[in-house]
This record gives sequence, structure tokens and C-alpha cells, in this order.
Amino acid sequence: MAKRIDGKAIAAQIKEELKEQVQQLAKDNITVTLAVIQVGQDPASCVYVRNKQRTCEELGIHSLSYELEETTSEEKLLSLIQELNAREDVDGILVQLPLPGHINEKDVLNAIDPAKDVDGFHPYNVGALSCGEEGFVPGTPAGIIELLKRSDIRIDGKECVVIGRSNIVGKPIAQLLLAENGTVTIAHSHTVNLKEVTKRADILVVAIGKRQMIDAEYVKPGAAVIDVGIHRDEANHLCGDVDYESVFPVASAITPVPGGVGPMTIAMLMKNCIESRRRRL
Ligand code: NDP
Repeated sequence: MAKRIDGKAIAAQIKEELKEQVQQLAKDNITVTLAVIQVGQDPASCVYVRNKQRTCEELGIHSLSYELEETTSEEKLLSLIQELNAREDVDGILVQLPLPGHINEKDVLNAIDPAKDVDGFHPYNVGALSCGEEGFVPGTPAGIIELLKRSDIRIDGKECVVIGRSNIVGKPIAQLLLAENGTVTIAHSHTVNLKEVTKRADILVVAIGKRQMIDAEYVKPGAAVIDVGIHRDEANHLCGDVDYESVFPVASAITPVPGGVGPMTIAMLMKNCIESRRRRL
């Protein structure tokens, strides 16, 4: 039987620690500020932005909210980013994705000052992660490492398999596991004999975006399984890329959906904002 890794509780614990850090900074009259830019009213983006603002409030982080029209030009968006880059009081700049089709996402992300890129998507920060230099790591992969560490799951020397090679999850989590001395394999849609590959894993990170695809047949007995996916099942309940019921009896530890990786993402974003202020002090 697996241990259920309670991401909600671990995220709550991290947020408590961060709240204390914000209070410490406040004693020296230092406020941490996150600027959130949303273009258009994509319903999922609205939910994510609201959650980020609510978490800022909870921790005492000041949030600046920019809700731009769907038709906003790329030029106008870039000029807002330049303005925020130059502002001494702004520690983090976050552009909620996806952006409307007429805006080039890459150009926008590249325009953010890497020192304020708390989402960790700027090529500078991607390179910093790869070289082991100081930078910002995206919230989801950083949260996964934190979940493993706080659940006493050893990474050093372990066989780690990541399914998925996206820039926001698969590649950065593979880099982080490598930095923790895991032996890392990245699988993707061209991987031959996926089950044979995943069955080698002591730690299996699943970020494929395919609802409940990974069942017990993909999992080595005793493995720790981290499910990054977010989907809705037929009954409209949230579920992941992993078939939880099937894998639970085989694994030694498993993250549920909801309440696993999800809550960690925002907590780690907040951590990056505080870190940004610290570095600039
Ligand atoms: P992407 O769609 O960008 O990437 C999916 C990856 O899975 C690709 O690398 C793809 O391979 C691989 N893949 C797809 N099908 C298969 C298959 N049959 N066998 C092996 N590999 C396969 O997804 P993301 O990384 O952005 O997200 C993954 C999941 O995580 C989604 O469900 C998303 O909603 C969720 N998510 C959750 C977050 C959270 O906070 N909890 C944050 C971000 C994402 P290839 O490259 O060859 O196409």
C-alpha cells in the first residue's frame, strides 16, 4: 500500500514558512510585490490568476493586477513589461499563459527581466537551471522536488523516469532530479516500450497530459509516483495522468489529484517572489 503524499498539507506548511519570512521583511519596511498580467478573459486563466492573488493576500505579498483587453497589441504588452522591469518596487512579473493568438508568447516571455521572472520561463533561467547557476525554477518542478524531500523520498542514486518533455514540467524536473544525483531518463511520445522504461523507475514523474493513462502495469513495485496531470473524469471530478486506484496498491508513495502537485505550484511561485526581493536587497 502506498503512502499518500499530501501536497495540500505540505504546501500549507511552506506557505506558513513564507508568511513568516514576509513578516520578517515587513519589520524592515520591505514589501514583496508580484505583478500579474492577464490578457483576455480565458476562464481557466481567470481561476489561476485569482488563486495567485488570493495566495499573495494570504502571505502578505503585495499584488499588482493588470487585466488587459483580449485585443491588446503586443507592443502595448511589451511596453507594460518594460515599465514593470524598471520599477524598483516590483519583485516578480508573471504573464498568465496562454496569450491570445496575435501575440508572440516567446517574445513576451523573453522581455521579462530574468531577475523578476518568477515563473522561470525566460531562456536565461532555463540556462541557469541547466548550468546549476542561480536563477528561478518554474513552480511545478520545484514543487515536486520539495514534495519528495519533505516526504523523505531519497533521490540520490535512484532511477528516476520522467514521462513528458515540456519546457514547463518535463525538462526542468529532469534537470532538478539530475542535480539531486538521480539517474534520469526522459520518456516521451516516441519512446519505444514505455512500460519497460517506466518499470525501471524508483521515482516516476508523470507529465503526459493523458487522463489516467499510467496504471499499475507501468509501475515498479515500491516506486514513488508523482502525478502532474490535471483532467476531469466522466463525473466531472478532477483526476490525473495516473490511474490512482490501480497504482496505489503497487507504489510506495503517490500524489493524489487534486491535492498533490497542484497546490505546490503556487507556493513555489510565492517563494520565488520573496527570493527575488532578497536577492535585490
Ligand atoms: P505537454 O502536452 O506540453 O507535454 C506532454 C508530454 O507528454 C510531451 O512531451 C509528450 O511527448 C508526452 N506524451 C504525450 N503522450 C504520450 C504517450 N502516449 N507516451 C509517452 N509520452 C507522451 O504537457 P505539460 O507538460 O504542459 O503538462 C502535462 C500535464 O500536467 C497536463 O495534464 C497539464 O494539465 C498538467 N500540468 C499541471 C500543473 C500543475 O500545477 N499541477 C502545471 C502544468 C501542467 P512529445 O514531446 O513527444 O509530444
